[in-house]
Order: sequence, then C-alpha cells, then structure tokens
Amino acid sequence: MADAKAKPAAGKAKSKGRKVWQRYEKKGDSVERKNKSCPKCGQGTFLANHKSRLYCGKCHYTIFESPKEKKE
Ligand SMILES: [Zn+2]
Repeated sequence: MADAKAKPAAGKAKSKGRKVWQRYEKKGDSVERKNKSCPKCGQGTFLANHKSRLYCGKCHYTIFESPKEKKE
C-alpha cells in the first residue's frame, strides 16, 4: 500500500489573462464622450466602464458605482 501518487489531471484548459484596457473608442483626434472623464487626468482621459465601477487606465483611478445601497 504505497501507491499514493496523485495523477495530474489531463485536459485542463489554460486560463488566458483578460485584457483590461480594451474599451477606448478613438476616432481620429476626437474621442467620443460617452464615458466619464477622469477627475485626476482631466477631460482627455476617460474611464473604462466595468460592471460596477469606472476605471482609469492611466492613473488607475477607480470609481465604484453601486446601483443601490451605499450612500456617500
Ligand atoms: Zn486618470
């Protein structure tokens, strides 16, 4: 009774890293103003829209938006 070697699970898919910087809509020199601009970087930088937060890819500023509860 000395057969306690664990077998490696085969067929495991590798998890790819997600792209964090993805939603930037630049059209020529002008940027569409659909997202909020970063309060730190100014109006030239926009926040990426995530599920429940806005994220600035430049200064990593994050605004958490809770749909309900949490009042500031
Ligand atoms: Zn910023």
